[in-house]
Amino acid sequence: SSFSEANLHEIILQNVKKAKYLKPTPVQKHAINVIMCDRDLMACAQTGSGKTAAFLLPVLTKMIQEGLHGSSFSEIQEPQAIVIGPTRELVVQIYNEARKFSFNTMLRPVVVYGGTSVGHQLQQISKGAHMVVGTPGRLKDFIERGKISLNKVRFLILDEADRMLDMGFEPIVRQIVEQMGMTSKSERQTLMFSATFPEEIQKLASDFLKDHIFITV
Ligand code: AMP
Repeated sequence: SSFSEANLHEIILQNVKKAKYLKPTPVQKHAINVIMCDRDLMACAQTGSGKTAAFLLPVLTKMIQEGLHGSSFSEIQEPQAIVIGPTRELVVQIYNEARKFSFNTMLRPVVVYGGTSVGHQLQQISKGAHMVVGTPGRLKDFIERGKISLNKVRFLILDEADRMLDMGFEPIVRQIVEQMGMTSKSERQTLMFSATFPEEIQKLASDFLKDHIFITV
């Protein structure tokens, strides 16, 4: 199988080619189809499996497609996708991939994380951010301060969910998701990735996901 069979946007496919990804990894093969079919997803996948591109490629594709169908795409500067990960290292890695794959599109990813001053990150957000990748604490802080709006969020991705729970982030992650509102679970597409699938992750999945597809690689 190949990436070109997956209904990804043409520009995204060009960027995949440029990244020299020749064929999809197993998690990519399955997750891309599930996400393109508008389904929520719980995926058990390790680091190194290609999980980042597995959610970025279809989500960026859908963000472009929805934008092209809407009338005011260029005016929408509020985030349409939020990606939450446990560590600065991981969110920067996701952000770098997001930049690579959104090259030549109008989509602007931004990354936020704690342990550093807020000035530069706020400046990046104020230029407009379609996808915000961040660690839980800094995301919550910016949301509460009205710097990041959740009004337009259509895609929520929790990466390395088990590690976020191990690090004690569950209450913050739950607060962020709750702030997305009661109504939005049906309008939102939610994707969870986790290396392991213990009871606490199953509970989180049943609270955050609707009628989801489960894949394990
Ligand atoms: P991840 O599991 O998302 O952290 O990806 C692990 C590494 O594999 C990263 O360096 C990716 O750039 C690379 N990678 C992901 N998907 C592919 C692919 N289909 N072909 C070649 N390399 C890939």
